[in-house]
Amino acid sequence: MSDARPQVAIVGGGMVGAALALLLVQRARVPAASVLLLEPEPARPLPAGAPYELRVSAISPGNRRLLQEVGAWQLMDLARVESYAAMAVWSESTPPDSPDVLRFDAAELGEPDLGSIVENRNLQAALLARCAAQGITPVGSRLTSLSVSPDGARLGLEERSLDVELVVGADGANSAVRRLLGIGETERSYGERGIVAVVASERAHRHTAWQRFLTTGPLALLPLADGRLSIVWSAQDAEATRLMELTAAEFSAALTEASAGVLGRLTLVSARAAYPLRRMTANRFAGDRCALVGDAAHVIHPLAGQGVNEGLQDALCLAEALAGRPARESVGAQRPLAAYARERRAGNVVTGTMMDALDALFTGSGPLTRMAATAGMGLVARSPQARRFFFTQAAADQSSPRR
Ligand SMILES: Cc1cc2nc3c(=O)[nH]c(=O)nc-3n(C[C@H](O)[C@H](O)[C@H](O)COP(=O)(O)OP(=O)(O)OC[C@H]3O[C@@H](n4cnc5c(N)ncnc54)[C@H](O)[C@@H]3O)c2cc1C
Repeated sequence: MSDARPQVAIVGGGMVGAALALLLVQRARVPAASVLLLEPEPARPLPAGAPYELRVSAISPGNRRLLQEVGAWQLMDLARVESYAAMAVWSESTPPDSPDVLRFDAAELGEPDLGSIVENRNLQAALLARCAAQGITPVGSRLTSLSVSPDGARLGLEERSLDVELVVGADGANSAVRRLLGIGETERSYGERGIVAVVASERAHRHTAWQRFLTTGPLALLPLADGRLSIVWSAQDAEATRLMELTAAEFSAALTEASAGVLGRLTLVSARAAYPLRRMTANRFAGDRCALVGDAAHVIHPLAGQGVNEGLQDALCLAEALAGRPARESVGAQRPLAAYARERRAGNVVTGTMMDALDALFTGSGPLTRMAATAGMGLVARSPQARRFFFTQAAADQSSPRR
């Protein structure tokens, strides 16, 4: 950053904060020298041939376009990115070869693919490289204090303090910005943990994302570019503890059984990590001279891989709200921030509630509820129109530029 006084401080240069920095410069007339991006742990590019990271995200086609437009997608190590052409979703009581399996096929839906699996580190490093190329260099310090008033925001960093026109919290689920501003949240635990790992499969993954709804939680098998798969196995707490304590061989056997053998034998080839799953919605997404984006504003169940996709939509919506401000209006003026908060809070509550409903229908529910849910899935599976509707809702082009 140059000596120019920053107008906007973005706290957190994760995938969402770094994307927002680029969007503010490219679409909202904020000079690069006026953007302060705080990130104490910037992602470094992956060395060639490094093993796959445990944390991956399924990026929707719309958000991939957005990331291409800001010039970050092409800076990733694209040899490590896998686009998937199909998705298969089924419940525990449905055999994986049944016509009741819900299948989304890119060709049938007239799309080139249904999304891309990227390692979070690959994407974050590319976004930060693009920021640097645009003249936005992340500052490696942490936020220690923060206050806002209708006239501006004052940030305390480890070594200095500074005044800006707008502060944006992009600092993740345990956001210091949210806490320091006293913005409350509605929160509940799902009583589940998401186990992530990389596995090899006996049969080819056929560029397909697989998801099986078990009574203990959904299991997702996401295809990787080297033919292996990344798993997100959401399981109720006690079951997750049991799975994490199994030996590698026992875990592989349990996973093969949980996948109904859809890809033959599955073998664990990495470490395992488990993340407690919770739903969180900040009571406000914006206020005087401040806004929250990404996980700082909302955390949802990972079962449909929407978390970072929602966060990228926050970044786009905020940049577009600010782009519409009159020439002489401050970037921290109240009207665009309020418009952003209204639009994104409503949108995120809908997405989060859909994830909750899906999780509740299958996980830990009674046999009658599960039967009804399975029958409903079968009905959708047999109707091309219904499949298209669900695909458009879940994946699609919500992120087409609204310029
Ligand atoms: C098991 C699992 C699987 C998932 N799979 C998917 C998926 O397939 N698709 C999908 O869309 N989403 C998925 N998600 C959700 C997704 O990972 C998150 O939504 C996403 O990482 C949020 O990005 P973010 O940039 O908002 O926050 P984060 O990734 O948490 O980044 C926050 C950044 O802020 C920095 N920071 C923190 N505190 C401070 C501070 N005080 N000062 C300065 N900087 C700070 C941190 O260093 C970090 O870089 C998954 C989540 C889980 C748990």
